[in-house]
Amino acid sequence: MIQKPKGTYDVFGKNSKKIIYFENLFREVMSKYNYEYFRTPIFEASELFHRGVGETTDIVSKETFNFKDKSDRDMTLRPEGTAGIVRSFIENKYYSNPSMPVKIWYMGPMFRYERPQAGRYREFYQCGVEVFGSNDPLVDAEVISIPVNIYKLLGFNGIKVNINTLGDTESRLNYKKALLDYFKPHINDLCEDCKARYEKNPLRILDCKVDASKSIMDNAPKIKDNLTEESLQHFEMVCKYLDSMGIEYVIKENLVRGLDYYTHTVFEVEANIKKFGSQNVLCGGGRYNGLVSTLDGPDMPGVGFAIGIERTLLALDYENINLIDEDGLDIYISYMSENEKAFAMNLVNILRLSGFKTDLDLIGRNIKNNFKQAERLKAKYVIIIGEEEIKNNILTIKNNISYEEHKIKFDDLIEFFDTNISE
Ligand code: ATP
Ligand code: MG
Repeated sequence: MIQKPKGTYDVFGKNSKKIIYFENLFREVMSKYNYEYFRTPIFEASELFHRGVGETTDIVSKETFNFKDKSDRDMTLRPEGTAGIVRSFIENKYYSNPSMPVKIWYMGPMFRYERPQAGRYREFYQCGVEVFGSNDPLVDAEVISIPVNIYKLLGFNGIKVNINTLGDTESRLNYKKALLDYFKPHINDLCEDCKARYEKNPLRILDCKVDASKSIMDNAPKIKDNLTEESLQHFEMVCKYLDSMGIEYVIKENLVRGLDYYTHTVFEVEANIKKFGSQNVLCGGGRYNGLVSTLDGPDMPGVGFAIGIERTLLALDYENINLIDEDGLDIYISYMSENEKAFAMNLVNILRLSGFKTDLDLIGRNIKNNFKQAERLKAKYVIIIGEEEIKNNILTIKNNISYEEHKIKFDDLIEFFDTNISE
């Protein structure tokens, strides 16, 4: 038997219902926030991620699925959504859109070659947003409010928002220098990856999972001591707007996040599940004012986040939150014999087109088994079609809860169900 590839999973049964519920909620919230849906390819030129995500990130240096196409082009299965959206934003000249800022959402599979564990897969789904064209801290606050509201609407209790700022380019340069000075005498205490990060991007040492618990991390210089006046002000305004919405957050000073091009605000939304470790981070995001120009677009700011859908659903399970819509069928249809099948088929088609959740016996059960099936499908009404019904054009409709029976003319059927089945 052929098995699924390592680090992937199939969706069926209860999980498919949960996923549909979550995805519908996300779409609905995005529409309320007035965001536009973008869908970009699942594979892109490898260079896009090298430049857009950054060579020193774990994502690009270790985790990508790469292949050459038949014309020898280097391709990569997208490990995240932002780079593709930025590419599309630039390629389609969305930067000249008169209605700034451009607010975009996306949802789809991402691929990372990681060690599979609970909440960590090689193919996983993210949904997220990118907002281009505004430097206003209002946008940072709006973007943070989206996952917060989604988790609220899902009914989460134990969710925490961590935020930090990396400041503007000048602040980052100051900070980078302070970090280099600080880590220099400790370089041999760092893991191999961090030795490389020291050379290329010392900020990311703070993001290291291997070195995280070492005491040298506790005393490392803090970004807040290296911020320019303007950067500090931006961050204070973001906090003020979050306060105004009553959104609680914790300022986590060593929060840096994966992308190389983050500036100013960075944030993550964290669950509190024992043994879930770093998989407790359900959502990450921030501002990246350098990214659009890095990918050959105009100098234009951006802010975004990505929610990990699997981790979110696992966290919901952990909090015993049941998303499954338990609604059964509106109507279940069965027939007495072969002769009534065509009539039944037409009836089920009409009812479905009229908006009722309807199903039809497809394996020729006897009456007793049809009622059992209607029970399993939690049907509100059952219609059994026989010779008489077709001849007189009057159907017997059984209410499967009160067991009342109604004789209704074929032409009055839709009206009957419209009045008796509420949304
Ligand atoms: P981690 O530190 O856990 O590896 P990350 O910093 O690599 O996460 P991001 O690139 O910021 O994660 O992605 C945003 C979200 O996508 C994460 O918070 C997480 O919920 C989800 N995610 C990332 N990688 C995976 C994966 N391999 N499997 C499932 N979900 C993932
Ligand atoms: Mg990761």
